[in-house]
Amino acid sequence: MEDNIKVTGLVLNAKDYKDNDKIVVLFTLQRGKLSAIFRGVKKPKAKMKMAAQPFCFGEFILSERGNNYITTNCTLTESFYDLAYQTERFFAGCVVLEVIDYATIEGQPNEKLFLQSLKALKELTYETTNENVITAKFIIDTLALIGYKMNFTKCSSCRASVSRPYFSALRGGLLCPLCKDIDGSPIQLSLINNLKFIDNSDYERLSTIKIDSTASKKLLCFIANVFCELVGCSLKSLNNVL
Ligand SMILES: [Zn+2]
Repeated sequence: MEDNIKVTGLVLNAKDYKDNDKIVVLFTLQRGKLSAIFRGVKKPKAKMKMAAQPFCFGEFILSERGNNYITTNCTLTESFYDLAYQTERFFAGCVVLEVIDYATIEGQPNEKLFLQSLKALKELTYETTNENVITAKFIIDTLALIGYKMNFTKCSSCRASVSRPYFSALRGGLLCPLCKDIDGSPIQLSLINNLKFIDNSDYERLSTIKIDSTASKKLLCFIANVFCELVGCSLKSLNNVL
């Protein structure tokens, strides 16, 4: 019994499988995350060779056999290939793909996250906004979509305005000195102000942020660690950014 389905998907990662095949993790609009086998794609002239690589986006025809999906055809609409020429933006894109992988559950569609993922990758590939700022924005938005909306504006506990900021991911973000208890750690005012600006801005407005390279890396590292703490993972791709 075979059943062909058509999905719109983004390749998150690909692993070698058997002699000539690959197992590809796809984030799809219709079925959420799934693994699909690409047969024969390690042969030099394989038709779907290019599609079985991270960042490839397009339509995939999958044949459902038992618990497995076999990819029988695909049409790429975007490969974000220009990222390959921009090392730092490419590494930031790898963080985006890994965050998607940890933020999604197999078989559960998330249309908003799907659209946000494409938006972030397009910004990294075709715009000039600082790549760490784009990636931080993507992580903040992703956290909100999976139930961890972070608060950077007022104390997460008493709602007061905060001039001496503390932060706790588990308690929802910013804390004032009175509410910090034992789990709030001090955070620089400039860092919290940048996070607030990023959270409240769309991607177009992000291009106006004034931040140097070192501060942008520190900011990305901070919010990535918040993601890891809340989701319970570590992001290998982050090592290339820092
Ligand atoms: Zn408070």
